[in-house]
Amino acid sequence: MHELSLALNVVDFLVRLAHDQGLCRITAAFIEIGEMTHIDPRQLKFSLKMASEGTPAEGCKFHVKKGRASIKCNGCGNSTVLDAKDMIAQYELKCPKCGGLDVEIEKGRELVLKRVKGSKKAVAGSGASSDNLSHADS
Ligand SMILES: [Zn+2]
Repeated sequence: MHELSLALNVVDFLVRLAHDQGLCRITAAFIEIGEMTHIDPRQLKFSLKMASEGTPAEGCKFHVKKGRASIKCNGCGNSTVLDAKDMIAQYELKCPKCGGLDVEIEKGRELVLKRVKGSKKAVAGSGASSDNLSHADS
């Protein structure tokens, strides 16, 4: 299961982040996955929930969304953000500028952790909490 190993990596990172920042809990994480990864967002969310059990990221709200992929043409150097629907429909990687087929995937194969919210206080129960990194009492 590809998603599970990714989830374990993400949770591992969150746990270290919580430790470094002195956070009791990770409350939300915003993850973007590239269009070309073939990761199922729902499967990933499920895996993240499982992987985070018993860690400071337990109960964390995981937001997973697909990010746009882009290609770079080796012929003319043009870089193009792919429209997901077009790409899936024709599944052909072609430079829209010069029509060249010598293109490489520039973006879209990665998983990016865009933003993380955490709380320095222990949260009673789970659910709605507006605590975030910029809301530290000091
Ligand atoms: Zn081109």
